[in-house]
Amino acid sequence: MAALECVQFTYGSDNYGVLLHDATTGQTACVDAGDAQATLSALRAQGWTLSHLLITHHHGDHTAGLMQIKQATQCLVIGPEPVSQPIAGIDTQVGDGDQFVFAERQVEVLHTPGHTTDMINFHFPVDKLVFTGDTLFSMGCGRLFEGDAAMMLASINKLKALPADTTVYCAHEYTATNAKFALAVDPDNTELQKRADEVVDLRASGLPTVPTLLRLELQTNPFLRVSDSGIRQTLNMVDSTDTAVFAELRERRNKY
Ligand SMILES: [Zn+2]
Repeated sequence: MAALECVQFTYGSDNYGVLLHDATTGQTACVDAGDAQATLSALRAQGWTLSHLLITHHHGDHTAGLMQIKQATQCLVIGPEPVSQPIAGIDTQVGDGDQFVFAERQVEVLHTPGHTTDMINFHFPVDKLVFTGDTLFSMGCGRLFEGDAAMMLASINKLKALPADTTVYCAHEYTATNAKFALAVDPDNTELQKRADEVVDLRASGLPTVPTLLRLELQTNPFLRVSDSGIRQTLNMVDSTDTAVFAELRERRNKY
């Protein structure tokens, strides 16, 4: 089986969409649909025909272009069950543990509520890829709009359990600010210092910091490191629960 080709494109102020193409079957998927023109021009540039549209959650910057893309391409739209707000145009609703086939490989659905309660992520175990929407960012995580810290931490822990060599595609370029915040709460982490320097260089060259690798996130992302003694000492929360540490980190990041 040939590896999927992944083409990331930008839209809005800091959003990323991704096209996934399988040369054997000719199938192409796009993750999220915030901007129809951006998606359709990315498809045109590659000469690919969209077969599947995968939607992570109901926010407009992930769904605003859905109907236009569907009309233009006749693609199959797979998205979350309407836990919070329904999304018009979904053909197949999927929830936690569901699987579907794209380009002759299984795709696993993870329900990762917290940012929204309908959030789902798409795991491609054969290709070692995961699309985390606004749940997990490089060195950060999504804001808690519809869920609470305990809910989001459980979602983050689901993602942490994936193989460490999984490539992580997230939906926004927030990494530079996330790195500064991470250094503030985890200042002695040498892997983090190294990654933060790399991020500065990448952004200075106008390059994306996404995708990232789960192994790197386990080493540098404070939201994946709530049991770390150094972070707990910085927060003065050595004996607190993981949920309390996670909530404090999220609260501080909101104000950062
Ligand atoms: Zn969102």
